[in-house]
Amino acid sequence: MPKVPKNYLKKFAVPNFTTLDCGRGCPYRCSFCTIINVHGNQMRYRNVEYIKNYIIDNYKKNKIDYYFFTDDNFARNKNWKEILLALIQIKKEYNINLRFMIQADTLAYKIPDFISLLKEAGCTQVFVGMESLNPENLKSAGKRQNKVEDFQQMVKTWNKAGIVVHTGYILGFPYDTPESIKKDIKMLSNELKIQQASFFILTPLPGSMDHKIMLEKNMILDFDYNHYDSFHLVWNHPNFDFKTMKKIYLYAWKYFYSFPNLVRKLYNSSKYSIRITSNILGTYLWYKYSIQVNKHHPMISGFHRKKSYFEKRSSIPTTIRGFLRFYIKRMIEILFEIIGTTKIVLEFFILWIIYLFLKTTSKLNKKKLFIKSKKKKTIPEFAIEY
Ligand code: SF4
Repeated sequence: MPKVPKNYLKKFAVPNFTTLDCGRGCPYRCSFCTIINVHGNQMRYRNVEYIKNYIIDNYKKNKIDYYFFTDDNFARNKNWKEILLALIQIKKEYNINLRFMIQADTLAYKIPDFISLLKEAGCTQVFVGMESLNPENLKSAGKRQNKVEDFQQMVKTWNKAGIVVHTGYILGFPYDTPESIKKDIKMLSNELKIQQASFFILTPLPGSMDHKIMLEKNMILDFDYNHYDSFHLVWNHPNFDFKTMKKIYLYAWKYFYSFPNLVRKLYNSSKYSIRITSNILGTYLWYKYSIQVNKHHPMISGFHRKKSYFEKRSSIPTTIRGFLRFYIKRMIEILFEIIGTTKIVLEFFILWIIYLFLKTTSKLNKKKLFIKSKKKKTIPEFAIEY
């Protein structure tokens, strides 16, 4: 595996961060997923001693102490315990504040010692593919391991350990309608109290089972792979046309990360350390900026895109008129970028003040939460809404 070059790291806003896969593949078979084809259904594992040495080396040479373990499913890596014990040892031996995030399935929280060891080893965030709150949708996608009635307990267990849950959520499954999606997003945010979510439009990605079936059934409407970015509806959905899907998709992002909802999420996050909350706020900032200013999915978006007229396609001739048109258009874009950014920065300034206020009055909040929790819906009540 290639070593991380020091000079390359200087180009990043967070130079102490990198990724590492401790294993590849996933034993499940979700119909929308390409992982099974790319990394395999049979899992493969990296040598634990190698992982340990790599992390020590990265710290010594580049001061890297922040990781995203990109395993498709860290919980099903047969060496997870040895890896976590090695990380705990490194933290003690080298006095490193090691932190990392992982991806795991919805049942992982039930594995004995898994969450407690993750916490001890420095895990701050878990990405969990909940995908839908409608069991019919999960069944249609072959995601039978996801039990909607367990979701609330799952989120609570991760949160209790101080690990933030970031969920992947797919819109446009066969049983979705505009109304059901609105109801589900509200539930995701307000009932399940998910802190972070990424939304995707169901896309029959080449290599997935969905792609094969939709091709066979002639259900694909758009064959331009530029649109296979989870931002476009490319197949013939019984309950959505392209415009309605796009509208509901933007609604999901905007509702979930609306100012009142972010205040609520911060209120629920006041038990976390300032460092973890800064990370959560950083993600909110990035996501809001991507959707509101860049109008792109956060996972393919940055904070400011550098564009130059001279980087255009070589087939387009260079002319003074083209040059002027490009830069006038670019200036207008930048003006809107500045206005949008100012709005978001102001919003986040207020959020940060609210967080600090909540933090200092957390004892009072805990009492209020305790009184409120007596009136909360029970898990079966939440689950039987379907
Ligand atoms: S979606 Fe997740 S759980 Fe399902 S096959 Fe892909 S990696 Fe595995």
